[in-house]
Amino acid sequence: MIIDFHTHAFPDKIAERAMINLEQNIVDIQGKSYPARGKGTVDSLIEHMRGDGVDISVVLPIATTVKQSASINRFAREINGKNGIISFGSLHPMQPDWEKTLEEIKESGLKGIKLHLEYQQVYLTSPEVVRILKKAEELGLYTVFHAGRDIGMPEPVHCKPECLRQILDHVKGDKIIAAHMGGWQSWDEVEKYLVGTPIMFDTSYVKGFISPEQFKRIVRDHGSEKIVFGTDMPWQAPREAVEFIESVGLTDEELQNIYFKNAVRILDL
Ligand SMILES: [Zn+2]
Repeated sequence: MIIDFHTHAFPDKIAERAMINLEQNIVDIQGKSYPARGKGTVDSLIEHMRGDGVDISVVLPIATTVKQSASINRFAREINGKNGIISFGSLHPMQPDWEKTLEEIKESGLKGIKLHLEYQQVYLTSPEVVRILKKAEELGLYTVFHAGRDIGMPEPVHCKPECLRQILDHVKGDKIIAAHMGGWQSWDEVEKYLVGTPIMFDTSYVKGFISPEQFKRIVRDHGSEKIVFGTDMPWQAPREAVEFIESVGLTDEELQNIYFKNAVRILDL
C-alpha cells in the first residue's frame, strides 16, 4: 500500500491556467523548465495514482491570498473522501477570520491544513503563524508546511529549518509536517536543527536534489516513524519518488512506515 501525502490538484475550470502560471514562474526563477506530470486536475492525479500504484493521495491546496480560503476549502470538502483522495484545507495567515476558518476546517472533518509561506509571504515565526499553529494543535489539526526554498520563488526563504526549530518554543510540533525532508535544499540545516525533534517530514520532490546517503542518514537519525511518503504531484510522479526511495537501502520496516503506516495513523484510516 502507498499513501502519497503531498499532492496538488486544481478545480477543472482553473487547472490549465494555474499550471501554465506555475511552470512559467519556475522558468523565470531557474532559467530552466521543470514540466509538470499531467494536467493538474483531480482526474489527472487519479490517473497517475492508478498507473503508479498509489492507493490514497492527500491533496494540499494553498490559499495564496486572504480571500481565497472559502472557495479553496469548499473544493477541499468536495473532493475529500472520494476516489482515494483526501484533502487538507488551507487559509492565509493574514486573513482576519483565521480562527473561525480553522474551526470550520475541523468541523467539516478535514484532518489538517497546508501553509506555503513562500507564496503567502509571511515568516514562520510571525505571530500570525504562531497563533494558527497553537489553535491547530488545540483542535488536533495537522499543519503541512512547504519547507525550505521553493523552486519557483525568489529568496528570502520564509520557512527554514532553523525557524521550524524555534517554533517548538510555542507548540509541541508532533502535528507539524515539514515538506521536502524538512527543508528543500537545506538538508544540512535539517540535520543540524530538526533531526530528532517531534516534527515530521515528507519525502516530496527530493529525487535528483538530495544524495541517497543524506536521505538515508536523515531517515535513520530522525526515525522512519516521523517520515511520510510524498511526491509533490504534478511536479514529480509517484513512480519517480518510489524509484528513489527504493534505491537508498532502507529496511522493509522503514519502507512500510514511510509508504503508509505513519499516514494511516495521522489520517485515522
Ligand atoms: Zn507541494
